[in-house]
Amino acid sequence: MEITRVNGIIISEKPYKESSKLLNIITKEYGIIGVIAKGSKRLKSNLRSISTKLTYAEFQINYKEGKLSTLICADIINPLFNIKNDLLKVSFASYMIDLASQVIKENNNSVIYDLLVSSILKIEEGFDSELICNILELKYLSYLGISPNFDSCSVCASSKVLTLSVEKGGFVCKEHHTNEKIVDKKTLKIIRLLYYADIDKITKLDVKPNIKKEIDEYISEYYDTFSGLYMKTKEFLNNIKYTYI
Ligand SMILES: [Zn+2]
Repeated sequence: MEITRVNGIIISEKPYKESSKLLNIITKEYGIIGVIAKGSKRLKSNLRSISTKLTYAEFQINYKEGKLSTLICADIINPLFNIKNDLLKVSFASYMIDLASQVIKENNNSVIYDLLVSSILKIEEGFDSELICNILELKYLSYLGISPNFDSCSVCASSKVLTLSVEKGGFVCKEHHTNEKIVDKKTLKIIRLLYYADIDKITKLDVKPNIKKEIDEYISEYYDTFSGLYMKTKEFLNNIKYTYI
């Protein structure tokens, strides 16, 4: 039996037989894998506390490609206490994990996992969950093959841009603007900054609510139009967001 170490986050858990659990783990090494945590429902099991959703750890598993692997033990990398104690943060993290899982199915690249982990750790540190989530959504567009153009007009490449267009795929100039809403100039500047940001290096994120709203609306519409993805966690997040924010 060969034991492998994987860096991952548990994305789902369900009971299996009397005392075990079946886990799905998103990993840096193998994408999404199915793992059985034998006996993890028993009170005395050393797998009990590490076999729960949102556990971010280095897992030792008996890896079987394309089959159910077996969990042996895990070393927690970060307990994510701040996220787990905040329903809104949990909702953002759940949606982001769901999104990463979908993106990784389209394009199995370990950067997708790295971007997810960096984003979750920023939320854990206390950065604005909505903005971090928007950054991740923007970063994933290129892995979905639908990169926007935030450098110049998407139609004529003019550098004199006026607003955002979902249909045309990014910035548009005055000449190529048709019926798109005119957004704040700061929205153009900030969405570009977020798109190119290095998540690990972010030390400050301070954006006014009206700008945040314009950015979030644009990204949502962009995903609805081009990604073909549907996520229940996004719907849940939207419902909860308006209660909190
Ligand atoms: Zn143009």
